[in-house]
Amino acid sequence: MSVIVSGAGIAGVATAHRLATKYGLKNVTVVDRFSPLSMTSAVSTECFRNVWSNRKMSELANLSIDILENLSKQSDNYFNMSHRGYVYVTKSKELANDFQDLADSSSDFDAYVGKDKCLGRFPFVSSESVGALHAKRAGWLDAQQLGQYMIQEAKEAGVKFTLGDITRVDAFESHVKVQIDKKTNLEASYFVNASGPWTNAMNERIFDCRKDLKHSLSPLPLQNELHAKIILHDELGLIPRDIPMIICADEIELPWDDETREFLRETKPKYLQRLPSGLHLRPSSTDGYVFTLWDFVHQHVVISDPPPHTLEPHMYDEWYVEIVLRGLACTS
Ligand SMILES: Cc1cc2nc3c(=O)[nH]c(=O)nc-3n(C[C@H](O)[C@H](O)[C@H](O)COP(=O)(O)OP(=O)(O)OC[C@H]3O[C@@H](n4cnc5c(N)ncnc54)[C@H](O)[C@@H]3O)c2cc1C
Repeated sequence: MSVIVSGAGIAGVATAHRLATKYGLKNVTVVDRFSPLSMTSAVSTECFRNVWSNRKMSELANLSIDILENLSKQSDNYFNMSHRGYVYVTKSKELANDFQDLADSSSDFDAYVGKDKCLGRFPFVSSESVGALHAKRAGWLDAQQLGQYMIQEAKEAGVKFTLGDITRVDAFESHVKVQIDKKTNLEASYFVNASGPWTNAMNERIFDCRKDLKHSLSPLPLQNELHAKIILHDELGLIPRDIPMIICADEIELPWDDETREFLRETKPKYLQRLPSGLHLRPSSTDGYVFTLWDFVHQHVVISDPPPHTLEPHMYDEWYVEIVLRGLACTS
């Protein structure tokens, strides 16, 4: 059996690695138009968790974490997997009680309810905090190192990595024909679409040729959500290096001076309202940097295909950094 994987992001690399090292497939080729791990997978906050409101997602995440833990063990933790957990912090007594209920019903969580317990365990959070929920099967890792480790193992198991743009795929009854850069063709038994934000763009290039039909696949119900990570160099060492990921579980209303408030009323009134929960922060594993991200925009974006040569800064709200820093000041 032979497989061609579109995309050498973390999804395509993990797929090829698993097919070759666990299932012993000898003929796996990963094709990407850029170097491995250079697109979305190069910019993640690199965190993992088994906490999801959907049970199936939690099961899937638990399975992924099992696999990651095995890789970490066999590689002598080459990719710095840490299990510090996520800590959701609140100033609301009601939410703190919900935290307690959750911890009572699942060993995945510890709850710290009441100011004393909360600040006793997590002294670095805001002194107004009254509850903290520690999700324990969560943490972060070095995703580039993880990817490189899997690429190395995959290559040793025979996986080939090829540079090129997949311009067309014809899927027949027994095999697929994959066209690269509009000129060369590869054939395989199966094709895996791991094209990240371009998954639907790739679907449009796949033609179902079975039963003498020839039509491109219908779009999948996927959306690309804009996330922007801020990296701060914590020169003064204000954020302890050994803390878990801290997540603000409350909505936040930012304080503004009168002049800015007036300006925002005219230009960006949404920043005068309460902004959603979810602002989060974590220290890097080794070098004194701090990563923070607040997905308050929930903005869906269309990514051009092929992608632009440079990042498109206009996609980001120019106020994003200001908002995140002010949010952090309110919660710490
Ligand atoms: C700021 C930010 C923070 C994040 N934080 C986290 C986090 O903490 N935890 C977490 O789990 N996730 C996080 N994510 C999400 C995570 O980074 C992505 O889900 C993941 O990297 C996607 O990997 P991928 O392999 O699917 O896509 P990509 O890494 O984008 O790889 C897709 C590849 O397909 C290739 N490709 C596409 N079309 C073609 C074609 N026609 N021919 C050849 N090659 C093609 C592309 O060149 C690309 O290399 C974050 C994302 C962002 C942006």
